Amino acid sequence: MYNFKYHKVNTIQEASNLLISCDDPKILAGGHTLIPTLKQRLSQPSDIIDISMIKDLNKIDLEDNKIIIGALCTHNDIASSIDVLSNIDSLSKLAQQIGDPQVRHRGTIGGSIANADPAADYPAAVIALDAKIYTSKSIYNSDDFFVEMFETAISPDEIIQKIEFTIPTASTYRKFRNPASGYAMAGVFIAKFDDIVRVAITGASSVVFRLRDLEDALSNNFTTSVLDNITIDSSDFNDDIHASSKYRGNLVKVLIEEAISDLI
Ligand SMILES: Cc1cc2nc3c(=O)[nH]c(=O)nc-3n(C[C@H](O)[C@H](O)[C@H](O)COP(=O)(O)OP(=O)(O)OC[C@H]3O[C@@H](n4cnc5c(N)ncnc54)[C@H](O)[C@@H]3O)c2cc1C
Repeated sequence: MYNFKYHKVNTIQEASNLLISCDDPKILAGGHTLIPTLKQRLSQPSDIIDISMIKDLNKIDLEDNKIIIGALCTHNDIASSIDVLSNIDSLSKLAQQIGDPQVRHRGTIGGSIANADPAADYPAAVIALDAKIYTSKSIYNSDDFFVEMFETAISPDEIIQKIEFTIPTASTYRKFRNPASGYAMAGVFIAKFDDIVRVAITGASSVVFRLRDLEDALSNNFTTSVLDNITIDSSDFNDDIHASSKYRGNLVKVLIEEAISDLI
């Protein structure tokens, strides 16, 4: 690990000031992605800004048809929230399936979506549930947030504060876990709203994406038979030591079929 200055802040304003004034700062939340990166010397920030003590970023609120989750909520906070379970049970189950107990008790939803790992689970929920991401500078629609592998629309001096999920009429998340890490080899999130269906795929490609042809087909006719007329183009899918792109293509189709069956 390279040397850095450590700052523990109590407010968003303090963190924002440091993000502007320091040479090459990094935010620290749960540390389950950042600390391993530092230990492997893959990153050399001048300053670490620990936001874990900022109050109000670890609340889960239920308002009208929204669940609003603070960026510092851990995966375990989300998995064990009665409000999340009773309104978006798929999100609760998604959080339960992340990593292992240590990861779930330290890792945060804000850190996860800021990191934009292509195999992370929350991005599928953010996209399928058409979440809004509130930061210290702006509000992002889900479709504009994830840009590429490990890249989001936020700037380096921007802090994610909360994520607002729309409560669907029904939803489900199906994931094929990497047996070692728990990350998604592929994951499919389907959310049904009054008039539309949204389908998001994680783990298969360099960035989470929607299957719009399938969404249109399912919005008209919510049955597994729509898959007969849908082609999953896996030519650009991830191809690595864990699975070939062709395997992931097949996996996505199987998970979609299971997910549709969950909601019939
Ligand atoms: C063994 C292991 C297994 C895992 N398995 C899974 C899995 O199955 N599924 C899955 O989805 N994830 C998995 N993860 C990742 C885990 O969920 C991480 O906790 C998460 O990705 C990062 O959250 P964090 O709070 O630890 O962020 P940190 O490590 O503190 O930060 C990660 C990045 O986000 C930035 N950041 C953090 N918070 C904010 C914020 N509020 N605003 C702006 N930027 C911010 C940091 O600067 C850093 O660049 C696993 C991790 C490990 C170590």
